Amino acid sequence: MEIGKKKIGIIIPCYKEEEVLPITNKTLLKYLETIDHDKLNIETFIVYVNDGSKDKTWELIQTYHSENPNKIKGINLAKNAGHQKALLSGLLTFKDKADALISIDADLQDDITIIGEMIKQFLAGSDVVYGARKERKTDTFFKKYTALFFYKLMLRMKIDLVYNHADYRLTSKRVLDALSQYGETHLFLRGIFPAIGFNSSIVYYNRLERAAGESKYPFKKMLAFAIDGITSFSVHPLRIVTGIGLFIFLISLLLSGYALTSYLMGNTMRGWVSTVLPIYFIGGIQLLSVGILGEYIGKIYIEVKKRPRYIVEKILE
Ligand code: UDP
Ligand code: MG
Repeated sequence: MEIGKKKIGIIIPCYKEEEVLPITNKTLLKYLETIDHDKLNIETFIVYVNDGSKDKTWELIQTYHSENPNKIKGINLAKNAGHQKALLSGLLTFKDKADALISIDADLQDDITIIGEMIKQFLAGSDVVYGARKERKTDTFFKKYTALFFYKLMLRMKIDLVYNHADYRLTSKRVLDALSQYGETHLFLRGIFPAIGFNSSIVYYNRLERAAGESKYPFKKMLAFAIDGITSFSVHPLRIVTGIGLFIFLISLLLSGYALTSYLMGNTMRGWVSTVLPIYFIGGIQLLSVGILGEYIGKIYIEVKKRPRYIVEKILE
């Protein structure tokens, strides 16, 4: 390493990406070649994290590393830990070996050609540079609107998020040192970085089509991720439950007064609807509220165990 050159690592979590990895590796190396020779005075390397895929992903990573050990590193997780934790393992393992790390998906959906601009922002003093999508032309109608709804909901819940930013970002070493102090199992990285603070900036890009292979985030996983994001950053839903409870209590007070006066005035009627409707309504709300409480208690249960968030099988550095 030449003195004075800033080291920038690119962290790429990979789960069953044998189809796209050869394309990604080639494209990325070619691009990094151009910015390495730029006047930025930096040196880049790539870290592929194999998130417990059983296909050829790890074999490919090993081959790339043996061909080019300075440029390409790898981490093999012992088991599938999920995107967020796979990313975390890469960030925490390599944070002391670089001045900044950039996280990006394996499928080239996030435009790699803004990496240069991200690094420029970093060199100009940003500790976090968020990549944010300009538009969502290539997303399906469904994905686009569920994603938009998700951002709006999070903002409602008072969670600090960067609009249309996923996990494509550059983080400096000191931000990653701060991240290493966050011990939670339920990781929602895009909520953690705004919570950490420091100087930040945003670089916009157009989200592209997946270069090959299929999405590893089906709707069920997306929903689980959204619920996780909300419940690990906000107790707002609990407050909503309390609010609804209070509201219904007030209404029931009014209704009790009404029922009592009707009774005293002797004009009570045997009503079926007025009996069963409140039972359904209040029963439904109670179940929902218990469910929301359960979500948080479940989280506490998992968090108090303090289990390791990922297990590393092998590091190629
Ligand atoms: N990924 C992972 N572990 C998982 C699922 C996904 O490391 O359990 C990686 C995947 O290889 C990709 C990134 O997370 O690099 C984003 O996944 P994908 O592109 O399938 O999600 P989408 O872009 O469809 O939301
Ligand atoms: Mg993708």
